[in-house]
This record gives sequence, C-alpha cells and structure tokens, in this order.
Amino acid sequence: MKQLQEKILKEGTVLGQGVLKVDRFLTHQVDPQLMAAIGQDFANYFAEEKITKVVTLEASGITPAVFTALSLDVPMIYARKSKSLTLSDELLTSSVYSFTKQVTSDISISRHLLTEEDTVLIIDDFLANGQAAKGLIELCQQAGANVAGLGIVIEKSFQSGRQLLEDAGIHVYSQARIASLDNGEITFVEKETIHG
Ligand code: 5GP
Repeated sequence: MKQLQEKILKEGTVLGQGVLKVDRFLTHQVDPQLMAAIGQDFANYFAEEKITKVVTLEASGITPAVFTALSLDVPMIYARKSKSLTLSDELLTSSVYSFTKQVTSDISISRHLLTEEDTVLIIDDFLANGQAAKGLIELCQQAGANVAGLGIVIEKSFQSGRQLLEDAGIHVYSQARIASLDNGEITFVEKETIHG
C-alpha cells in the first residue's frame, strides 16, 4: 500500500534493535482515514475467503482489525493479554513472547465466541518473529475454526515471522514490507523509498 509506505516514511521513527515506532498513526495516536483504507485493503484482499470473524490481539491490533471487520461486515474479536491466567474451561488460551516488551503473556478468547463454524482472518499491526500470530492461530485451532489468512500492516521482513507462518501453511499478506531498518533508514522490500 503506497499510502501506508508514505506515512511510515513521513511519521515513523527507527529505534535501536530493529524497532519501528509508529505511534503517530497506528500504535498510540491513530489516523482514522488511513485505518479505513487499511481495513478496506484487507477486506478486498481476502474478499473470496468467506470470512466470518476477524481476530486480533490487544492493544495495537484492534484499530486495523476493527476497520477490516467493518469493511467485511463481520464481528471482530481481540484476544486479551494477562500476566498469568487461571486456566478455565471457558477460555481458549495460549502464550506469546513479545518481541518489543521482552515478556511472555498469556492470551485468551472466550470459548463461546469462536467455533468450528468460523473462518477467521487474523489481523495484527506488526509481524516480527511471528509469535503473536502463532498464539492467535493456536487459539483458532483450539476452537476448531479455520484460519483463512493473516493480514499484517507492517511486516519486518528481516525477522523470521513470515517464514515461520508460511512453513505452517498460513497465507500471509502484508501491506508494507520492511527489508531493513539499518542505520536509522527505512528500506522497503519493494525498494520504493528510503528515509533517515
Ligand atoms: P512478533 O510476535 O511477530 O515477534 O511481534 C509482533 C508484535 O510485537 C506486534 O503485535 C507488535 O505489537 C510488536 N512489535 C514487533 N515489532 C515491532 C516494531 O518494530 N514496532 C512496534 N511498534 N511494535 C512491534
């Protein structure tokens, strides 16, 4: 998505350790026009998949996920994070190691919200090592739901997430793919533009 790439170049900042800060339009402050375009783009891309639910992880997956769900006209579910869960039969649960926060969280969705009748589109803001997506896929599998694909706003292609998920047979679509953040420069896989 060209509009997204331009926004990343204009308002994104590179932190050390391969982290891109996008809190001016995605992860803290939100640009609703851009999010609406993002949602429509995901909905168009997965239009043939007969999606019944969009699933994401709180907090920063929620905005792109809800706009995608709006465009697809289906509900959106966000998995909740907590430090440790008392296991309950009513919950689908999994563990996710966070790349940015370097902590492991348990994530959960109420069992009654996802069923084997569902075809799920998983949406997340970033794909780094694929742990968040893997945890969400596990929740869908526990429910017996079909995962139609994974929609990512910003993929860091220099990390291993895409490989991990494709090896697991998941269809991954990313709207912006970053090849490198070296030396504070954002380079897209498509080599469209560079910025310091
Ligand atoms: P993964 O599980 O794929 O390693 O990491 C994905 C999660 O980590 C995303 O849900 C996102 O919240 C966070 N994340 C990973 N890399 C970045 C980054 O460069 N910038 C920001 N803002 N979040 C990131």
